[in-house]
Amino acid sequence: MIPAEKARQLLRDFSITTTPALNFNRIFEHFNIIYDEMDYGNTNYMGSLIRAEGKTIILVNTDLKNAGRINFTKAHELGHFSLNHKGKQFECSRTDMLDFTRKPIEIEANEFAKEYLLPEQKVKPISMSAPFDFDTIKAISNEFMVSKLVAVFRILDFHLGNYAVIGSKDGIIAHIGMSKSLIGKINFLKSGDSIHNNSFANECLISSFRMNGYAPIDPKTWVTRNKSGSAISLKEYSRADKSSGSVLTLLKVDFL
Ligand SMILES: [Zn+2]
Repeated sequence: MIPAEKARQLLRDFSITTTPALNFNRIFEHFNIIYDEMDYGNTNYMGSLIRAEGKTIILVNTDLKNAGRINFTKAHELGHFSLNHKGKQFECSRTDMLDFTRKPIEIEANEFAKEYLLPEQKVKPISMSAPFDFDTIKAISNEFMVSKLVAVFRILDFHLGNYAVIGSKDGIIAHIGMSKSLIGKINFLKSGDSIHNNSFANECLISSFRMNGYAPIDPKTWVTRNKSGSAISLKEYSRADKSSGSVLTLLKVDFL
């Protein structure tokens, strides 16, 4: 059974029709999973699934104090459990939970977590019709109790427009995603690259500048290759969280 189907089955079995993240305790109790949280003093380690002496334990690192982040870790570890991944102990890092992890069981646990927390049946209709902006991201993130980053990636799974998202921290790109319509057509800067000095993202980070919508930007600021065969114009909408140095950049591509 594919991971998303397994997640859908769990949602059906537990008759979950509201926010799935509110149902972890009920599920853990049903399967006799011992759940524990701890501050590990290491923000790279996210959580574990441990099978020992007939017991199943899920441990989550609460260092990040981010309810959305913690929910994703819980769902990811529940994924290792529900998908019957073989092994006594899974120690999952931040990298294991990113979209570009290459380890098959981690990819499966992430696919399970995404469908469990943000079921396609509920999120797809909203994502297809809503504007791709910070209001929509916030609404999905609040309703489903996930981080803004998880919400925006899920919206892009379904959005019909030509959009991309780039997450950076201290000016270095850490996350990148795009709507299906752009895959194979447009290459953007990649993870590890620095954001451009002329980007709105940089201005948001270093000044009190705040954006309230998309604004035109030179495509070269973010696009490294255009394989589409048509000229493009680009619009950027960035918001910074100065306390953490992170910026979320939304990009809209128009084919001319
Ligand atoms: Zn894992």
